[in-house]
Amino acid sequence: MDLPPPETRPLGRTGLKLSAIGFGAAPLGSMYGAIDRADAVRSVHHAVEHGINFFDTSAYYNDSEVVLGEALRGGWRDRIVLCTKGGRISKTEFDFSPAHVRASLERSLARLGTDHVDIFLAHDVEFAEDLGRVCTETAAELHRLKAEGKCRFVGMSGLPLAALVTAVETARLDVVLSYCHGSLNDTSVLDVLLPVAERHDTAVINASPLSMGLLTQSGPPAWHPADDEIKAACRKAAEVCAAKGADLARLALQFTVSQQRLATTLVGMSRVEEVNKNLAAAAAPLDEALLRAVMDVLAPVKNRSWPSGTFSG
Ligand code: NAD
Repeated sequence: MDLPPPETRPLGRTGLKLSAIGFGAAPLGSMYGAIDRADAVRSVHHAVEHGINFFDTSAYYNDSEVVLGEALRGGWRDRIVLCTKGGRISKTEFDFSPAHVRASLERSLARLGTDHVDIFLAHDVEFAEDLGRVCTETAAELHRLKAEGKCRFVGMSGLPLAALVTAVETARLDVVLSYCHGSLNDTSVLDVLLPVAERHDTAVINASPLSMGLLTQSGPPAWHPADDEIKAACRKAAEVCAAKGADLARLALQFTVSQQRLATTLVGMSRVEEVNKNLAAAAAPLDEALLRAVMDVLAPVKNRSWPSGTFSG
């Protein structure tokens, strides 16, 4: 298949140039259902060969780091920018203590088969009992790990933009990762986080352009935290697309990638077919009439999110 590589854009002032589509490796850890491991490994190579140079995983994504590590053996690691995260242990367990975060990165490096990652993030910091301590003590440990060469850039990830704004304002971060706020149904990352991050010289990674499956023809997984109204509006958007022979995921990806202010957007993938579909979508022009019709359907739930963690702003 003839697939032009995605555009590359600078990640803030890090000096990194990332493909506008990044490879989200949560699905490699079967977070969205069982995977075919051989196809998953091929999907990583296929993505790199077609110009996707940014990969994101986490200690939390089951065996995603192991599968990705397997795929990166044999020289592939050196061709990509690799991000992992620590501090989130399970759905309900978190440990952002300096000792845990350090041990987590060391285990991640072993699982990924590398001596350093490019980006290391404290994962889902809105769940910390005390975000203030994460922004001081954990951040200091992140900077020590950076000084030791175990990672090149450090930061934090999370859902509530208010928590990320606090982190950006208080923790001297290279980068933050925001998800489900830079997509068709929610563009609040552009107005709420980007201006603050730009002022503090912190780069922003955008993730989940399909809003974790909400913006697909088949709909989200059962665990999806959105309320019924959001789910119903997205289902209706999928119907509008189906009636025109179009695909909501394709439109959603095109919309997000067309936002030039977003350096890179991580989309979850585990199959060669998905990589092809997403690269083709990114290269094709947006159908403006379809976009307007879908935006109209999503307007009642625009920028509406869901609770996450204990941070109350
Ligand atoms: P997403 O919005 O990218 O959706 C992923 C789902 O959509 C998966 O089921 C995938 O198989 C499916 N999919 C991919 N391409 C498709 C297509 N063309 N058509 C139909 N379905 C398609 O959500 P995500 O995977 O949660 O987010 C992307 C990545 O961002 C993650 O893998 C992870 O690396 C990162 N992320 C990080 C955090 C965090 O740090 N807290 C949170 C969310 C996501």
